[in-house]
Amino acid sequence: MVSTSSTDTGAINPNGILAGKRILVAGVTLDTSIGFGVAKVAQEQGATVLISNFGRALNLTKRIANRLPAQAPVLELDVTDEEHLARLPDLVREHVDGLDGVVHSIAYGNPETLLGGQFLEGPWPDVAQAVQVSAYSLASLSKACLPLMGPGGSIVGLTFDATVAWPAYDWMGIAKAGLESCSRYLARDLGPQGIRVNLVSAGPLRTIAAKAIPGFEDIEAGWTARAPLGWDNVDLEPTARSVVGLLSDFFPATTGEIVHVDGGYHAIGA
Ligand code: NAP
Repeated sequence: MVSTSSTDTGAINPNGILAGKRILVAGVTLDTSIGFGVAKVAQEQGATVLISNFGRALNLTKRIANRLPAQAPVLELDVTDEEHLARLPDLVREHVDGLDGVVHSIAYGNPETLLGGQFLEGPWPDVAQAVQVSAYSLASLSKACLPLMGPGGSIVGLTFDATVAWPAYDWMGIAKAGLESCSRYLARDLGPQGIRVNLVSAGPLRTIAAKAIPGFEDIEAGWTARAPLGWDNVDLEPTARSVVGLLSDFFPATTGEIVHVDGGYHAIGA
């Protein structure tokens, strides 16, 4: 059981910006997952980190967890499973006595029906699944974690700029628009409890989820050239550091915000 200080489950830097904080990162499959990058930087910044995944990939996550700088308990959590959500506080309490931060790094849309440029053909059951896993789950995960959180808590999710239409992204773009709106409503409702809710809007990164998008290369094309700061699509560090920044006490009055971590691409017209 961890309260707030360094233990066998993580905290490796007592002077980091997350020193003493207990963080759940939901959505880690491989070391290419953005969630993995966040868990790594969070540990480097002093946090005690728990990670989660679901289904068949859970064993993969357990193996990948060994590549983190410190031990991280792996919890089973399918965000569409009400029983998993209901038991989450008990699973977390087996390791830490509360949470200071929750990272939602989860998305799914059937690549065969919802992505890749056949927008008008997207079937509702698949759209409903994509919205449930990728948008609604920010609310259900937050609700499940609320009994563990208090003032100063921070919830951070990952989006891909949903203010414009992209090649290939199709119904996942609609799910992300829902996620972005969901984060604002959560910010409204959790603010009075002192809990912040923000998103990081990342540029394209070559994760498994991204590589499953038919036509992902059309989104990537030209990103590096147009982004004033350039963009490395295999470097998780800028995105992970920004998520960690939002988890920290360095954004105490920021909520309902979407921070672009895209090399500046969003700000440039052509
Ligand atoms: P990733 O490694 O595939 O991570 C997505 C995670 O969501 C996986 O661990 C996946 O598990 C999990 N997941 C899917 N359905 C779930 C469910 N029902 N319950 C619990 N977990 C579930 O890909 P990623 O790119 O790092 O994605 C993380 C987040 O960043 C997503 O929200 C994504 O949209 C966002 N994002 C990605 C990019 C990019 O270019 N990669 C850019 C901007 C934002 P399984 O692997 O077991 O299915």
